[in-house]
Amino acid sequence: MSVQLTEADRQALRARYRAERDKRLRGDGNGQYLEPSGRYANLHDDTYTPVVPRESLNTDVHVLVIGAGFGGLVIGARLKQAGISDVRLIDKAGDVGGVWYWNRYPGAMCDTAAMVYLPLMEETGTVPSAKYVPAPEIHAHARRIAETFDLYRGALFSTGVKSIEWDDSLSRYIVHTDRGDVLRAKYLCAGTGPLHRAKLPGIPGIHSFEGHAFHTSRWDYSYTGGDPKGALMENLRDKRVGIIGTGATAVQCIPHLSRAAGELYVFQRTPSSIDIRNNHPIDPQWFATLEPGWQRKWMMNFTVLQTLGFAEEDLVKDGWTDISIRIRDRMVELVKAGGTVGPETLQKAYEDSDDEKMSEIRARVDAIIGDERTAAALKPWYRQLCKRPCFHDEYLQSFNNPNTHLVDTDGKGVERIDERGVWVAGKHYPIDCLVIASGFEVGTTYARRSGFDVVGRGGLALSEYWRDGMRSLHGIHVRGFPNLFIIGFTQGANQIANVPQNYVENGLAIADVIARAERIGAHRVEPTQSAQDEWITFITSNQRGLRGNPDCTPGYYNNEGQPISQSDMFNGSGHPGGPVAFFEFLDAWRNTGEFAGLEFST
Ligand code: NDP
Repeated sequence: MSVQLTEADRQALRARYRAERDKRLRGDGNGQYLEPSGRYANLHDDTYTPVVPRESLNTDVHVLVIGAGFGGLVIGARLKQAGISDVRLIDKAGDVGGVWYWNRYPGAMCDTAAMVYLPLMEETGTVPSAKYVPAPEIHAHARRIAETFDLYRGALFSTGVKSIEWDDSLSRYIVHTDRGDVLRAKYLCAGTGPLHRAKLPGIPGIHSFEGHAFHTSRWDYSYTGGDPKGALMENLRDKRVGIIGTGATAVQCIPHLSRAAGELYVFQRTPSSIDIRNNHPIDPQWFATLEPGWQRKWMMNFTVLQTLGFAEEDLVKDGWTDISIRIRDRMVELVKAGGTVGPETLQKAYEDSDDEKMSEIRARVDAIIGDERTAAALKPWYRQLCKRPCFHDEYLQSFNNPNTHLVDTDGKGVERIDERGVWVAGKHYPIDCLVIASGFEVGTTYARRSGFDVVGRGGLALSEYWRDGMRSLHGIHVRGFPNLFIIGFTQGANQIANVPQNYVENGLAIADVIARAERIGAHRVEPTQSAQDEWITFITSNQRGLRGNPDCTPGYYNNEGQPISQSDMFNGSGHPGGPVAFFEFLDAWRNTGEFAGLEFST
């Protein structure tokens, strides 16, 4: 669906993008969202697994891993591979899986190809069913990692961490849980992950709705019928269902709601960009021909291409690599035509490629949607990377179903909610069931997102230490917090298009550091102040080019359109050379065996 643009078209686009952004900018930024309370207070509870009573523990733990999502699982596996057998996982969920435990909404799947997204496939002998796999298959993979590496042994599920404090005399973290446990952990790996604490839209009257309501991360199948595998939600046949939000989650569940509901009202503030999905089954015979070591090769190939690098072939070949390859090739053309290699040429290559891509995405809306007004409202007017890009082959089509009504709020959001329904632009939409697809907290404090704080040496809390932004060495080690290992991606590779790759690579370094501490009989390991300071200077002094586009429509990718503070800049930083440079750096760093910048105290 190639679209040719003139310079006048491009100028018009820019003006339209700014106008659409201005409509949506609001002074309260992140403050517009609410923490669940009142009728939504149970939103953080586990509605899937009953809590099994057990005795409280009072015990020493060698390595305590908080969070049993892919972060915690991969670190646990890496530790086992390094010969560290005493590893205990703890999670408030009733099983492993993290976001793939909590998100069971119909249609949930991963937008990143399984070949690179599912960590440790070779180690677990996993063959994905398709290029993009559904959530139940991803959850099963998480379980398979736990089984393969014996991580269920000693795991504490349905257990929330309440407090963590470093005890200098014991050189251990004292961890209290909501099950009355007291755990004394020599090493603490914190993998609480991004995007797991649900937030509510701050719409007046949201607590007054008297129909059925739930957030997508706690889908209520007992009300809707159906199941996470996509069985028809037959109980919705005679129901009027409203859904608030049209982000990546809503895009996946709306086709299922459209199929099942009597009437479906989709309340839209900003349309998502919906690129082609093109899912297909994976042929097991082809899969069997892959050589050992294939997964690291695939992951690196994806990341190289997705961050504007060069490779002989595009192994994954999807929407993430497509836009990057277009930018890269345009950059090459511009340089060949006499442009300089630098940020300005990169920006031009990015904007031209993006203009083309977004024009194709808008043309796709016209090609699919029958009704002109609906088509106009579903077109995204911003750059693709201003918001989380979406990929789907059934979402747009849903709006051709006579029972599915797009209620576009023209960027203003839902006006208010009352006992019986939703108001938009002075019109009332009576509904029986409200599905809230308003996403998860981003940019709030570490303690708020995790549900706990870590108190380090001298009584300093991590959230206090990070008040003006995260400070770490490699995104893993923190001065003043001995034996603590952060499982994440910020201040490291920052590979957000394939988050598990950060865990797979960082896990090797974390396991090597702990193995070395054990080998030399160290009781604590901590970064030096100067090493941490140098790392922060390094990663913040030379940001990669394409962040913080001022014309972006607001969203969590750009601090809801508010200015980027020092703290936001620290929290969003990564290696200036990009993810591949960081992974190569970390590999070399650990392979020297010197672990420069860390102090091991014996
Ligand atoms: P998002 O934060 O992406 O979307 C929230 C939606 O709620 C937006 O459409 C937002 O509109 C809308 N909204 C908020 N307030 C109001 C209001 N007052 N009135 C009307 N609408 C409102 O949350 P999601 O759960 O969709 O996705 C979160 C993230 O989870 C994704 O970005 C992605 O990273 C991840 N995810 C990943 C998947 C995968 O494939 N791996 C699948 C699903 C999710 P507006 O855009 O205007 O702010």
